[in-house]
Amino acid sequence: MKTRIGQGIDVHAFCDGNQLVLGGVHIPYEKALAAHSDGDVALHALCDAMLGAAALGDIGRHFPPSDPRWAGVDSRELLRKVNVLLKQEGWSVSNADITLVCEQPKITPFAKQMQANIAVDLGLDTQDISIKATTTEGLGFCGRGEGITALAIVQIKSW
Ligand code: MG
Repeated sequence: MKTRIGQGIDVHAFCDGNQLVLGGVHIPYEKALAAHSDGDVALHALCDAMLGAAALGDIGRHFPPSDPRWAGVDSRELLRKVNVLLKQEGWSVSNADITLVCEQPKITPFAKQMQANIAVDLGLDTQDISIKATTTEGLGFCGRGEGITALAIVQIKSW
């Protein structure tokens, strides 16, 4: 059995709105995330980590923002498509660890549901998916509340 790892990062800026989508969870908030899709930074970072592990390019190559098919798309749909791409190459995800960087909203109350969503989409157990959150102590664009950063790392195995 072969194993590989991959990492992904994504950033989206806050914009006017009243709801965010993170890890497939709709979170009521005083802002939204600006994006061509639903702006789910957590799932975008995860998709990039999975594609990176399998050396299959990046999310922008597979789902270009210029393509109207992906306008407002539910990023869980993209995640499932990326999982199919990996399966076609003989890979399956072993585990994933995602970190969200923001001052607000607080992630912890929603982390379990994010884990469950991702586990369902990848056909894994919830224990195989980790969602963590941190702040930057008020520093930088995340600290100023201008946007959210997501970082992801995954291990994949040949099957
Ligand atoms: Mg993105």
